[in-house]
Amino acid sequence: MSYIGRFAPSPSGLLHFGSLVAALGSYFQARSQQGKWLVRIEDLDPPREMPGAADKILRTLERYQLHWDGEVVYQSQRHHLYQQQIDTWLEEGQAYFCECTRKQIKASGGYYLGTCRNKRLTHSDHCSVRLRMDNPVESFIDLRQGEIHIPKALAHEDFIIKRRDGLFAYNLAVVIDDITQGVTEVVRGADLIEPTGRQISLYHTLHQTPISYLHLPLAVDEHGNKFSKQNHATAISDDHPKQDLQRAMKFLGFDLPEDFSDLTVENMIDWGCRTWCLQQLPSEIKIIA
Ligand code: GLU
Repeated sequence: MSYIGRFAPSPSGLLHFGSLVAALGSYFQARSQQGKWLVRIEDLDPPREMPGAADKILRTLERYQLHWDGEVVYQSQRHHLYQQQIDTWLEEGQAYFCECTRKQIKASGGYYLGTCRNKRLTHSDHCSVRLRMDNPVESFIDLRQGEIHIPKALAHEDFIIKRRDGLFAYNLAVVIDDITQGVTEVVRGADLIEPTGRQISLYHTLHQTPISYLHLPLAVDEHGNKFSKQNHATAISDDHPKQDLQRAMKFLGFDLPEDFSDLTVENMIDWGCRTWCLQQLPSEIKIIA
């Protein structure tokens, strides 16, 4: 089976250092195995979107010579697929409507305990849709971090697949898309280690063989906070890509030759694809960058 990897940015802001690390890690891992590298724009949450960010992200990837295969996929154009799956599960009783509010769940200890499982609620505007957790995943193997344990209460929770406000949940969309796009391995930041258990459980519920996962170290500031669009991490430079590129490659454990900065961006990326190996990756989950 040939390798298919992907980079799946959310257009809630421009690419920052942490997202460049994820883009590069997934790119090197795919290209070093002569695999395909897909780009999917995860525009599931319009209120959190920054106008124009999706296009800017794509232009930045091109500027860094990260060229994707095939057409870019937009989650906003795939609602019918997500809804179809939810409808099937609702009919089968695999999913159900839930009227619990976040406040109620917090008051009962922070985890949803299945309160609405057998209520047989029919659709109402104030309901979310939850998946009956028949395939809990309490641990999985990460290619770099090794065995990862998921807290039991989290692993067994009937999680939300469609929110009360009508938005599709990230875990559902990501798994349906990874399956339909034929993705064979997910490479992304370590901030997404925890939801991986739920994503693997979705593969089981969908009668699919789970794929492999590699979580890259997360770039954090000196207070341990990740660089994210939410905390206004500065966007990486489109005008002078070499500097950010070298910084991100060092972060990924490359031992760069002294004259590396003389190379063109394209040659830097080529060198990365040829040199990349999993063992070079630092094993820490968080690194101050
Ligand atoms: N869209 C997610 C993000 O930007 C990444 C999803 C994934 O790689 O599974 O954080």
